[in-house]
Amino acid sequence: MDIYDRPHFEEEHKIFRENFRKFCEEEIVPQQQQWLNDGMVSREIWELAGEFGFLCPFADEEYGGMALRDFRFSQIMTEELGRICESGFALGLHNDVIAPYIEAYANAEQKARWLPDIISGKAILAIAMTEPSTGSDLQAIKTRLEDKGSHYILNGAKTFISNGILSDLVIVAAKAPEGVTLVVVERGMDGFKRGRRLEKMGLKSQDTAELFFENVTIPKANVLGAPGQGFVYLMQKLAQERLVCAIGAVATAQFAFSETLKYVKERTAFGKPIGTFQNTRFGLAEMRTEVTIGQNFVDTLVMKLNAGQISSEEACMAKWWCTDMVNRVVDKGVQFHGGYGYMLEYPIARAYVDARIQPIFAGTNEIMKEVIGRGLGLS
Ligand SMILES: Cc1cc2nc3c(=O)[nH]c(=O)nc-3n(C[C@H](O)[C@H](O)[C@H](O)COP(=O)(O)OP(=O)(O)OC[C@H]3O[C@@H](n4cnc5c(N)ncnc54)[C@H](O)[C@@H]3O)c2cc1C
Repeated sequence: MDIYDRPHFEEEHKIFRENFRKFCEEEIVPQQQQWLNDGMVSREIWELAGEFGFLCPFADEEYGGMALRDFRFSQIMTEELGRICESGFALGLHNDVIAPYIEAYANAEQKARWLPDIISGKAILAIAMTEPSTGSDLQAIKTRLEDKGSHYILNGAKTFISNGILSDLVIVAAKAPEGVTLVVVERGMDGFKRGRRLEKMGLKSQDTAELFFENVTIPKANVLGAPGQGFVYLMQKLAQERLVCAIGAVATAQFAFSETLKYVKERTAFGKPIGTFQNTRFGLAEMRTEVTIGQNFVDTLVMKLNAGQISSEEACMAKWWCTDMVNRVVDKGVQFHGGYGYMLEYPIARAYVDARIQPIFAGTNEIMKEVIGRGLGLS
């Protein structure tokens, strides 16, 4: 069974997958070890992805996009990055989480100013919500925008920001007099400083970092949408972000399953392949079942997202269930690899440490259940 050949994909998706897979094999795989050593991916890979048309293919042609408004293309790219265990090149974050804010809330002048570079890979994106003292409780952020008439003055600190070092445009959530407001901070603005690249247990080639804003002058022309509407905008875009996480989780789980299946067929103990022990067979059967359940759920939600019918609760269900599931699956995968499963040179070990963040970021799984519970009238 070819797990990439599923009924909701059509011929154009298959061709797109082939192209993106080729890009992954030729341009990403040879760089992965270097990126792991460097603690970040190269700037060149972003520009190359732009040249190949893999950045924001949904964007309008006037900005350099292809107007491919079909989330199946995003799903394919996330799946293919999972297939090669690539967790540093945050394409899904750039394309499907952050660029949509610009698409939806930027005015015509801002789109013309930012989108061409976002689509060509010259401008790498980050979004900065989390602060040292608050993550889940977004309303409690302390980063401030002081209104000076023609501009704002931004002060505050953010942490755990993906693409923190490489990013050129950062959407920052801050409190203005009107309430939570989104502003775009650009590389090189006076007072915008990057802290250290944070040492993480996994995602070793992702440049997660702290960001500091010390009296940064923010022109009013860099406010995204209406001041005070930031919280509403963030809530409106979260369903897609959560679905991206769920797709990534299923892709990593699939990767862990494939690696483990291969391994248990090759490794022998007591004179036979370890895959022939009933315990191993049952374990692999459970892994396969969980991945399939997750896959079917996310495929359904991708089509619902395309039709504009996904609910916030469904996206939360997919995010919590799939990101918990991937941790069960990678854990089993490590166990079946024995001691080799604990060695970082084995991809299963990398998948294990990478997976642990998934129930935490993009809203913790506890927050997902809060949203679902509220939808049941249990607030
Ligand atoms: C690798 C990585 C990348 C990240 N990338 C980004 C990024 O690009 N941009 C960004 O803004 N942030 C990013 N984050 C931050 C991430 O989204 C937050 O860490 C996450 O939202 C949790 O916030 P917190 O760490 O402050 O935990 P807290 O909010 O302090 O939560 C701690 C614990 O309390 C629980 N808890 C909190 N409130 C409730 C409640 N009401 N009910 C039940 N339990 C609750 C949580 O579920 C959790 O288990 C990233 C984090 C990591 C580690």
